[in-house]
Amino acid sequence: MEVLNDNGCSWIKDLNPRTNIKILESNKNCDWLIIGAGYTGLSAARKLGQIYPNQKILLVDAQLAGEGASSRNSGYLVDTTLNDGFTSNKILENYKKKTDIYKLGIEAVKKFIKEYQVDCDLNECGKYFASSKDEDKKILKYFSDTLSKLGFEHNLLTNSELTKRLGTSFYNIAIYTNGGILLHPGKLVRAMIDALPNNVQLFENSTLLKWKANNDKIACHFKNGIINSKKIIFATNGFVKSLGIKSKYNFPITLTASMTRPLTVKEFKSIGEPKEWGVLPVRPMGATIRMTKDRRILIRNTAEVHNVFKMSQSDLNKRSMKQRIGIKKRFPQLPDDIIQSSWSGIVSRTRNSSQIFEKMDSNVFVAGCYNGSGIGVGTLFGEQIAIKASNGHSNEIERIESISKPTWLPPQPFLNIGIHTRLFYERIRAASEI
Ligand SMILES: Cc1cc2nc3c(=O)[nH]c(=O)nc-3n(C[C@H](O)[C@H](O)[C@H](O)COP(=O)(O)OP(=O)(O)OC[C@H]3O[C@@H](n4cnc5c(N)ncnc54)[C@H](O)[C@@H]3O)c2cc1C
Repeated sequence: MEVLNDNGCSWIKDLNPRTNIKILESNKNCDWLIIGAGYTGLSAARKLGQIYPNQKILLVDAQLAGEGASSRNSGYLVDTTLNDGFTSNKILENYKKKTDIYKLGIEAVKKFIKEYQVDCDLNECGKYFASSKDEDKKILKYFSDTLSKLGFEHNLLTNSELTKRLGTSFYNIAIYTNGGILLHPGKLVRAMIDALPNNVQLFENSTLLKWKANNDKIACHFKNGIINSKKIIFATNGFVKSLGIKSKYNFPITLTASMTRPLTVKEFKSIGEPKEWGVLPVRPMGATIRMTKDRRILIRNTAEVHNVFKMSQSDLNKRSMKQRIGIKKRFPQLPDDIIQSSWSGIVSRTRNSSQIFEKMDSNVFVAGCYNGSGIGVGTLFGEQIAIKASNGHSNEIERIESISKPTWLPPQPFLNIGIHTRLFYERIRAASEI
C-alpha cells in the first residue's frame, strides 16, 4: 500500500521544493535502517550518524521526507496538555512524569535549533486552553490546581481579556500558560533533513512493503529492491500498526487542518491586530486554532478513524467546510472564502496516552505514538532510541522508560466500535467548540 498525501499543506507550500530526491532502485546492505523520515526518524538518523560516522545508515520514507504529519501539524511545542488521551491522567505523579518528558522534548528541539542555527519562527508566547462554555470553568479550575502544584505559571482569563488578546469574543474562559512554544513545523523538519550527516543516505517515495527479521539480519522489501540491515528502527508513527508493529497497543487517527491566506491590513485591524497566539480546546474534540506571525489563521477541528493511506479530495473538502465554519464562528467579520489550503495528516494514539519506546528484538527498535505532541517528544525519542539501539545509556532514556507503557487494546471489531463511540461522544460534548 502506498502512502498518498494531498498536496494542500500550507506549511509545505511555504518552503522551496527540494531537489535531488533519491528513490530506492536496487538491493542494498547496511548497518542501520530507519523507516520513516519525520521528526523521529530524522532525529534517530542524525544521532546514529554522529555515533557511527563510519557505518552505513539508510533512512527510507514512503513519501517525501518530512512531508507526513511532521509538516502537517499545528506547530505547538507543548509543555503541558489538558486533553491528551481517552482516559485522563488523574494522578499527579503520572502527570508530572508526562510533563517531564515534554520538557525534555522542548530541550531537544531547542538544542537542535541552536546547534544548527535553525530559523523556524519559534515564538515562546505561551498558549491558551480556552472554551466558550462557562461550565468548563470547573475543568479549568481543576487543571489550574494541577499546574500550581507542579509549578507551571499560568492565569485564568475571562472573555474581555481574551477578546483583547485573541481578537475574537468567542471564548469565555481560558487558562493561559506561560510555557508553550509556537513554531513553523515545516521549517523545523526541513532543517532536520538538511542536517543529516554525510553517512546517512536518504531514499524517498519508497514504501516498505514487508519485513522479516532473520537471525542477525532484517530483510526489508520495497517495490524496487530489498534492504538487508543489521539493525532497524521503525519511526513510522501513525503507520506503525500497518507494519504489524505493536498493533495491539496503538491505532491511527486522521486529523485535518486548514490555513487561511494572510489577513489584509484592514481585516487584521478589524480583529484588533492581536499578537501571534495559539489556543487548544478544553474539550478533547474542540478546535485547535492559531494566529500565525504572518497573520494567517490555522484551524484543526477534526479527528477520526479514516483510511490512513489516503483521503479523497471530496472527503477533504467536507472537512475544510467544517473549518470554514469554525473560523466564521470566531471571526464573523472576516470574509467566507479566506481558507487557502486544507490537508490531512496521520497521528498515532494509545489507550492510556503513553508513548512507544522499545527494543522489540535484539536488533529491532521502535519509537512513536505521541498522541498529538510529537514535535518535541518525537525529536527526543528519535535521538534516544538511536542511543538505546547503540547500547548506550542516558538520563533521558531512564526518564522515558519510567513512564507507564501503552495499555493493551481490545481486538477488532470491539476496538473500532469503542473508538467510534468515544469519538462520537466527545464530538457531541464539543459541538459548540468546533
Ligand atoms: C493536523 C495535525 C496537527 C498536529 N498538531 C500537533 C501539534 O501542534 N504539536 C505536536 O507536537 N504534534 C502535533 N501533531 C502530531 C505530530 O505531527 C506527530 O506526532 C509527529 O509528526 C510525529 O512524528 P514522526 O516522525 O514520529 O511521524 P511522522 O511525521 O508521521 O513520520 C512518519 C513517516 O513514516 C513514513 N512511513 C509510513 N509508513 C511507511 C512505510 N511503510 N515505508 C516507509 N515509510 C513509511 C511516512 O511517510 C512518514 O513520513 C499533529 C498532527 C497533525 C496531523
